[in-house]
Amino acid sequence: MKRLILFGAPGSGKGTMGELIQRDFGYARISTGDILRAEIELGSADGLKARAFMASGGLVPDDLVVELVRKRLLRGDLDGGYVMDGYPRTLAQAVALSAVACSSEKAIFIEVSENEAVDRLLSRLTCRECGAIYNLKNKPPRREGVCDICGGSVARRSDDTAEAVRRRFQVYGERTLPVIDYYDKAGVLVRVDGSGDAARVYDRLKERVA
Ligand code: ADP
Ligand code: ZN
Repeated sequence: MKRLILFGAPGSGKGTMGELIQRDFGYARISTGDILRAEIELGSADGLKARAFMASGGLVPDDLVVELVRKRLLRGDLDGGYVMDGYPRTLAQAVALSAVACSSEKAIFIEVSENEAVDRLLSRLTCRECGAIYNLKNKPPRREGVCDICGGSVARRSDDTAEAVRRRFQVYGERTLPVIDYYDKAGVLVRVDGSGDAARVYDRLKERVA
């Protein structure tokens, strides 16, 4: 089965591109951020462990995330291909993923300036139920506070605050940039200009991935 991996800074559009790929290619989508937020909503033991790390903008420990992904990969819906967003984020996670066979793999690096990314994060709204992404400025939900897709409640993510965003960028630079380098050296990295509106970015991405 085919595997696409989305990389990029917080606010680079990984989640939005993942949703578009899911719809357009019919791929399964695996977002560790969404999986972790769902565990927190459930109040599970894993959610309780993850919560403080996420709120501060730090990373959830590798063993916990690797185990959640391992379980997700067993669900049996991956034969048509799958796209991962937010994973792997550390070298240890990349090594764990490399043990999972696939027929072809591409890592897509969505490049955007820190200013544009921070701007997006601070005006972003997210559905608590399904993870759909909105934006106060250019893509608000049709009814304020209500998800167009599932009717769930739409609000600012608790880690989309100036302080947590700063920490997320720092962690991204220290822990995730080396992972991007790892895929570059493996010869499977594709760079996509992530500036501007989502439809345009997606057109560029498709051109590079097709
Ligand atoms: P963003 O990329 O905008 O920071 P995500 O939804 O991908 O948003 O991640 C939100 C938070 O969830 C991260 O800051 C981190 O705490 C946690 N997280 C998500 N994926 C991982 C992962 N692969 N490893 C460790 N922590 C993760
Ligand atoms: Zn929703």
